[in-house]
Amino acid sequence: MSTIYNFCAGPAMLPAAVMQKAQQELLDWQGHGVSVMEISHRSQAFIDLTKAAESRLRSLMNIPEDYHVLFMHGGGRGQFSAVVNNFLGNNGRALYLESGQWSRSATAEARKLAGDDRIDSQSIVEKVNGLNKVTLPKLEGDSGKYRYVHYCPNETVDGIEIFEELESPWPIVADMSSTIMSREIDVSRYGLIYAGAQKNIGPSGLAIVIVRKEMLALPAMPQSSIMDYRLAAENDSMFNTPPTFAWYLAAEVFEWLHRMGGIEAMAELNKAKAELLYACIDELDFYRNGVAAQNRSRMNVTFQLADESLNGEFLKEAEAAGLVALKGHRIVGGMRASIYNAMPLAGVEALVAFMQAFAAKHS
Ligand code: PMP
Repeated sequence: MSTIYNFCAGPAMLPAAVMQKAQQELLDWQGHGVSVMEISHRSQAFIDLTKAAESRLRSLMNIPEDYHVLFMHGGGRGQFSAVVNNFLGNNGRALYLESGQWSRSATAEARKLAGDDRIDSQSIVEKVNGLNKVTLPKLEGDSGKYRYVHYCPNETVDGIEIFEELESPWPIVADMSSTIMSREIDVSRYGLIYAGAQKNIGPSGLAIVIVRKEMLALPAMPQSSIMDYRLAAENDSMFNTPPTFAWYLAAEVFEWLHRMGGIEAMAELNKAKAELLYACIDELDFYRNGVAAQNRSRMNVTFQLADESLNGEFLKEAEAAGLVALKGHRIVGGMRASIYNAMPLAGVEALVAFMQAFAAKHS
């Protein structure tokens, strides 16, 4: 089979080495004679796997002891509702910062559950010289005003990333679905971090939640038990049967990240990949990107062809060259190359070579 590079935004490509190992042990995991999918989540072997997964993640991200690490159901959107239900009780309020499609969706879900009057929102993105630029607000006020402030450091659809640190008198809740483990962050700055798994962690459906233990003292709304952080923490994320295969694969991805040199090494590689692709877009009038330099995403590179009538041809020829899933999100159109941790530099080099050749051919 010729090499295929998959630029899908999610479910995204997973490291080839991880997939090969999973394939090898699919029918006989650790000599048990059965698949990891067919073994009790209460068995010692599976419990050992979950402990290894957590300790690998803790060391990769340098997660302090006063944080729980939870493996939950329901992907990223499951957490849109979980944070509201877990922290807003009868009368709590929250502030939502909006920088693109996903943070706006998070606000909408919060309003649905808590009501419009308990959820304040603020747009933090504006067009400056035709480019989307984020300005983080100065957040000031009584520490009791909001239970948390929510934001999305990487907008997967819009290709907007926020590298600056948010300062806030209220606990920060961050949707890191498409940026987690792509670069180093200081976990202690956050009240809660969540991420749907299908970009940098593993298969879809799973979500990782990293929550400061003291946040769990906040009053919750009545909610389903499986989304209750307190129950998840008390039951080692096994209040009910967890998505075991996704958890297993996440553990393998964490081990792969360690082998790759950890998040610091990954961050360097991700920066190099993104710079290469943006340089290609900037050099050729044939392509353009609509995001201000300081907010260009290193994970989701959005770009448009100057002549949009060539979009179909671009996608067709790219696919024939083994470069798949480059179509932009239906809401924003154009193209999007998602280049998460598992995308090797060679994949981005192949894409750049293709883009140069396509531009030369059609100019
Ligand atoms: N937040 C962000 C930033 C995302 O990119 C996505 C999915 N692309 C979601 C939330 C929703 O995740 P899920 O589809 O797992 O619910």
